[in-house]
Amino acid sequence: MSYIAPDEKGFFGEFGGSFVSETLIRALDELKIAYAQAKNDPAFWAEFNHDLALYVGRPSPIYYAERLSQHLGGAKIYLKREDLNHSGAHKINNTIGQALLAKRMGKKRVIAETGAGQHGVASATVAARFGMQCTVFMGADDIVRQAPNVYRMKLLGAKVVAVDSGSRTLKDAMNEALREWVACVDDTFYIIGTAAGPAPYPELVRDFQCVIGNECKTQMVELVGRQPDVAVACVGGGSNAIGLFHPYIDEQSVRLVGVEAGGLGVETLDKHAAPISSNSPVGVLHGFKSYLMQDENGQVSATHSVSAGLDYPGVGPEHAHLHKIGRVAYTAVNDDEALSAFHDLCRFEGIIPALESSHALAWAIQNAPKMDKEQIILVNLSGRGDKDINTVAKLSGIELG
Ligand SMILES: *Cc1c(COP(=O)(O)O)cnc(C)c1O
Repeated sequence: MSYIAPDEKGFFGEFGGSFVSETLIRALDELKIAYAQAKNDPAFWAEFNHDLALYVGRPSPIYYAERLSQHLGGAKIYLKREDLNHSGAHKINNTIGQALLAKRMGKKRVIAETGAGQHGVASATVAARFGMQCTVFMGADDIVRQAPNVYRMKLLGAKVVAVDSGSRTLKDAMNEALREWVACVDDTFYIIGTAAGPAPYPELVRDFQCVIGNECKTQMVELVGRQPDVAVACVGGGSNAIGLFHPYIDEQSVRLVGVEAGGLGVETLDKHAAPISSNSPVGVLHGFKSYLMQDENGQVSATHSVSAGLDYPGVGPEHAHLHKIGRVAYTAVNDDEALSAFHDLCRFEGIIPALESSHALAWAIQNAPKMDKEQIILVNLSGRGDKDINTVAKLSGIELG
């Protein structure tokens, strides 16, 4: 099956679309038109690339993890260093793109949802950079769990709104942000944090994140004269993964592997965040159709992952499509395996990875020994782990002061 996506209604095969109220249809149509114009305007991309270079610090390097690879004794592991970006992860690629779009549309205010707080911080960062007001919606429970990121957003000038409904986490924050957007579409731009949500968000987030894969294609040739045998990335909503995968879709020699959060095991009812690996049914949440963890009554399941950034019951529609057509293999890595990979990278390479990225790394660590020494695994190191040291310490029985 050939890959052409999305169609004019925003469907990637049977997934995606925009399942929203009438008011939002209007806002999404306005966004669709603005993005279509921006996409064809070289000046838009010139400004985007300028900020990626001088504000974010791109291109991010690709680093050969030599000691780790030699220890494992199989395929060579290379790391795409998104952890070195300004604000610590790939998320800034997307928030810069959307903030520039907001500016182009004459919007003076941005809103965002956040779970762990990483997208909230990336949104507050660009709002300060472009002189816009910023309001971030965050589940009340997450506000307690992620206090340092809440303070970061406030330092950057954003207002953080506690969402008290539902499970008081990311899912509810996104519902609230969509509700707020309905109420003030005229002056407000909604910056969605992953390659999900109603069309055209999955497409435009992907386009902004494709800088990752596009750089890799050039850098791998410069470094080793060819493309990797496998490219692997963790999948929450799926933005860092689609940014790496999309430019490689037509390169059939490159195996693509997406790693979901297995939590305590994909066989558990709701102690994971792996909708594809657990064979979840198709459903609609946050305005798009995709694989969605649900109970027997179709209620969205609770989720669990040691990494807050992967703790989402759904997955972006392009991933659902890539799974369905078999172009990308999706699998899951459990909490304990991700933690072990986290420690391995600290010890062997002097790099503290994000717990999210540690899932992709764990796949590489498990599979490199089964591969030939001449083969190459490229891991998208989506973010740095400074934000996670409290979590890791606690799991190791250590209380930080
Ligand atoms: C948010 C986050 C993720 C998960 O989001 P995707 O949209 O799936 O990429 C992964 N890694 C890091 C470091 C994050 O902050």
